[in-house]
Amino acid sequence: MIAIAVVLLSSVWVAHFRGTGWTSAINPAYWYHRLHGDDLYNSDETVLHHGNRQVPEVALTFDDGPHTESRSAILGILADAGIHATFFDVGVNMIAHPELVNDTLRQGNEIGNHSQDHVHRLDDIAGKDRRREINDTDIVFNEITGKHLSLLRPPGMRYNADVLRTTRNLGYLVVGYTTASRDFDPDESADIIAQRTLSRTENGSIILLHDYRATASALPKILSGLKQRGFRCVTITEMIRHLPDGPRTAAVKQLDTLQN
Ligand SMILES: [Zn+2]
Repeated sequence: MIAIAVVLLSSVWVAHFRGTGWTSAINPAYWYHRLHGDDLYNSDETVLHHGNRQVPEVALTFDDGPHTESRSAILGILADAGIHATFFDVGVNMIAHPELVNDTLRQGNEIGNHSQDHVHRLDDIAGKDRRREINDTDIVFNEITGKHLSLLRPPGMRYNADVLRTTRNLGYLVVGYTTASRDFDPDESADIIAQRTLSRTENGSIILLHDYRATASALPKILSGLKQRGFRCVTITEMIRHLPDGPRTAAVKQLDTLQN
């Protein structure tokens, strides 16, 4: 009887809480935040951590571009699949390739702020230097597109409470990730990258990819694997609009404030 109960409980666990590590599972603070939806979107910090766990969708995010040798290939693969994604671009790369910024948006994708030079980590610099790293990227983006950036991912995902105060004051919604594809090694095979990505994906995953050649080679396999498993690919903005009521209301309010 006990064995049957354990098996049943385990299968419920696997079905509903895939990706929840055991250290989180035994931590009361984790369950408190999870009950309040703070583990999806934390409105005090304005950080998106995870999409809706009840919706079979994932967000593909591509950091560090635009790069000539990979952006066009990635855009072509996404267009063929009829998928939109979110690109966290670096200011100096946008200056070098404004046409790629325009191509990316024209295709219905969205672009977020990934700092001006990606060299300075936002928690290593402060005050004017930190604000400049963030603002300069928006100035470049605005010169190219006439629009402003509202999503931000800190380089190396390095942030602390002080960084979050700055991003909030500058009016950004910070985007984390749940699934790292570790796709930055040019010698890594497409199969390994795709396998690693798919094995760590669940409902509401935010997948961290890069605008590199290895990513472009692995992308068709990642997309067909996601499709096979019934996941729809959405942009971060769409993912926010599909969150459960509490976190959705808070995040949409923040986004609307930024985008109006
Ligand atoms: Zn980066």
